[in-house]
Amino acid sequence: MAGDPSTRLVHAARSRETGAPSAPPIVTASVYVSAGDLGEVGYAYGRDGNATWETLEAALGALEDASALAFASGQAATLALLLALAEEGRRIVLPSDGYYGTRKLAAMLETLGPRHVAVDHQDLDAVRGALAERPAALWTETPTNPLLRVMDLERLAGLAAEAEAPLVVDNTTATAVLQQPLARGAAVSLYSLTKASSGHADLLLGAVVSRDAGLLARVRAWRTNGGGIPGPFEAWLAHRGLQTLPLRVTRQSETALAVARHLAGHPAVARVYYPGLEEATLETARKQMPHGFGPLLSFEVAGDAARAQAVVEASRLIAPATSFGGVESTWERRARWASETVASPTLVRLSIGLEAVEDLVADLDQALSASSGSARAS
Ligand SMILES: *Cc1c(COP(=O)(O)O)cnc(C)c1O
Repeated sequence: MAGDPSTRLVHAARSRETGAPSAPPIVTASVYVSAGDLGEVGYAYGRDGNATWETLEAALGALEDASALAFASGQAATLALLLALAEEGRRIVLPSDGYYGTRKLAAMLETLGPRHVAVDHQDLDAVRGALAERPAALWTETPTNPLLRVMDLERLAGLAAEAEAPLVVDNTTATAVLQQPLARGAAVSLYSLTKASSGHADLLLGAVVSRDAGLLARVRAWRTNGGGIPGPFEAWLAHRGLQTLPLRVTRQSETALAVARHLAGHPAVARVYYPGLEEATLETARKQMPHGFGPLLSFEVAGDAARAQAVVEASRLIAPATSFGGVESTWERRARWASETVASPTLVRLSIGLEAVEDLVADLDQALSASSGSARAS
């Protein structure tokens, strides 16, 4: 279908036949009526396929002119893709920052075969070096969670092509509306749909999006046989949320940029991390994210961990919670997660929701000053 991705998104998987439901239904069946040779049956058992997943997949695919496979969570999608890419003796080249769960999962898989190495993906010589030795894939993330570092997708795609390895991009923080990895040379876009893509903090799901039919068939085989399938109800909710993604992330990006600028001038803030403020990568960020830099930003509170924790607790508007991309603004001191190795003790990760920017700024100001005398000794 032609047109802007937001137009394709809304019209994907909708029927114009007389009598067709204008909102896609939820199909919850685990078994389907079927007799005889299974090769001739569309659906037989619920682990193989489901019409509600396919609605979500059609919409995800429409956003990137590609095909999509939905999974039970971002991690289930990551696991299936890692297993599909793994070949004996070959390495997955991961980023040294970015979502810690990916590195954790890759480390757990090492004893079973798939090898990995983590290098800084802004250091292109280091990436080239890591790709020199039998790479199975270059697996990157941009902007990274939680430091919002921007990687140059076209350069990384060039290095991956030289090494004859596919480039995988974890596109969770940006979403397909703000950044199109496949159009910049990536073979796969990977998502935690739990975050902004579904956008309402009411489900966990993940997705693998690609134009490589052979790779998708291998990923699908891991989903069918490994069982990391989405629930139909979650898939239905995710499709409902996805349709307003273009509106939500552009508004959240505008607010996040204004908030990031405000925090950068605040005396109680030592450092702000946001792609729109990072001089060294600003040109790359503007090129690959022309419609906004996303809902997520991080900042260091001046002082110690207790002071940062006190700031988080002093907010009246921003909910203390993990995850990101929902309609409600949330924040957390990131280092409270034991496996989070790249966040300093004072790093607060803030997810901008759909509240008015003036209200968020007023709340941030009162939280940053209200807590200044109240930092606890712990
Ligand atoms: C949350 C997240 C994941 C994992 O997704 P789940 O849905 O929690 O399993 C993967 N990558 C990134 C960048 C994330 O933020």
